[in-house]
This record gives sequence, structure tokens and C-alpha cells, in this order.
Amino acid sequence: MCCIECKEPEPRTSRTSLLSVESEMPAIRCKCGEVLRYGEVPNPIEWLFISDTAYDTFSGLIDAEDLYHEMKSFLKCPVCNRLWVFWNGFNNDPSEYVSQL
Ligand SMILES: [Zn+2]
Repeated sequence: MCCIECKEPEPRTSRTSLLSVESEMPAIRCKCGEVLRYGEVPNPIEWLFISDTAYDTFSGLIDAEDLYHEMKSFLKCPVCNRLWVFWNGFNNDPSEYVSQL
């Protein structure tokens, strides 16, 4: 397996193009080749979001941790602007959204 820095093409896996990168930090490899890590805290490429319905269950002063647990995450690739949305947590494969701009 090639190192991250030299950008040599990785061998394709039969199951998916999302490769686990050998590192202590969990990561996915974007289709553009960029390695997106999601173990960093705080993470500069991770965005949090919540549905309006879920947000509506909160009122008044709330605990940031409680809100955090209701939020989902996506990673934004800094190279190609793809969004990798983890609708069902980091233990499940993310959905890919490609910018048309
Ligand atoms: Zn990318």
C-alpha cells in the first residue's frame, strides 16, 4: 500500500471505493483521492446538522452536549467540495453529494 503523500492510485476494493486508511484516526478516502479524517476534535472539515423537527424538541436553555448528541455529521472535502453525509452515524457508510458548481 502506498503512502498518503505520494498520491499513487490505490488498488480498488471489490466492495466500495471508500477505503479505510491505515491510521490511528478513522478516515475515508474521498473519490478525488483526498483523505478525510473524522477523529479530530474539533474537526475543521466536519459540519454538524440537525433536522428542524429534532431541533424543535429543544427549548429554553439547553446543554450543548444534549444538542450535540442529536446532531448528525457530514465531512466536506477541502479539495473537491464533495459532502459525505453520515445519516446513520460514523459506523455506517456515508452518502456522497457532489457539488455541481
Ligand atoms: Zn474530494
